Amino acid sequence: ALEIGHDLGAALTTARALERERAVVRELQQLDDYRSHLIATLSHELRTPLTVISGNLELLGAHGLDAEAERFHAAMTRGTLRMQKVVDDLLLLARVSHPQHPLVRTPVDLRAVVDDVTMLVESTARSKGLTLAIELEDGPLLVLGDLGELDRLLGNLVSNAVKYTPAGGQVRITARRDEDDVVVRVADTGLGISEEDQAGLFSAFFRTTNPAALSESGTGLGLAIVASIAERHAGRVDVESRLGEGTTFTVTLPVAGE
Ligand code: ADP
Repeated sequence: ALEIGHDLGAALTTARALERERAVVRELQQLDDYRSHLIATLSHELRTPLTVISGNLELLGAHGLDAEAERFHAAMTRGTLRMQKVVDDLLLLARVSHPQHPLVRTPVDLRAVVDDVTMLVESTARSKGLTLAIELEDGPLLVLGDLGELDRLLGNLVSNAVKYTPAGGQVRITARRDEDDVVVRVADTGLGISEEDQAGLFSAFFRTTNPAALSESGTGLGLAIVASIAERHAGRVDVESRLGEGTTFTVTLPVAGE
């Protein structure tokens, strides 16, 4: 009887501990929902006044400003553009990380996505003296997903590679089939990311501690968006990097059924 009593006592303690843990998880989930809701609402509310500001700045710019006013105008325009980028990224992150936000899937050929993205970064890469190498396996590289989101996923990785690779370096984009997946790699010979920094890389607002990377402007939202988009396409993103040598991001997405 003593032993049974002891077992019962132990079971009760475990049950109470489990219940406490569940309550903490529920509370964290509620906080997380509240945070997402707050971010989505705030960024939505900020969008309209920002459009008013940028529209009026444009009108003001056409008024023939003197040199000093021109400087103020340029500073305000830069600030507004930056704010618009943060708000747009926040809205996108809220959308793609919300499980209830539906993903409309159509067959997307990743070779078209690579083409779109390459076109966008080509001139920046050239003006920085970077080599862009593209190697795509023959045949379609089809996945089921949202073209706009997949453009953003790859666009963020490739524009980071260009941004964080010093002049004279190389950015290489490869894509191939691997059994039931399509694997896209974005590799650069840039600054690299320390092991410590790799741990937080995909969290919103994360920026590395590397001073050379911090001198580039950024919001720390790009990779959080990348991770959320990959996740909702049933894929994943992995990173391999060595400080001072370069970084490779690997995106794995399930191939569209033939
Ligand atoms: P952002 O570039 O706007 O700061 P991201 O979420 O895209 O935000 O990236 C987070 C951080 O990860 C960056 O601040 C940068 O320090 C680091 N990072 C991302 N991509 C690379 C890369 N290819 N090489 C080196 N560091 C990178």
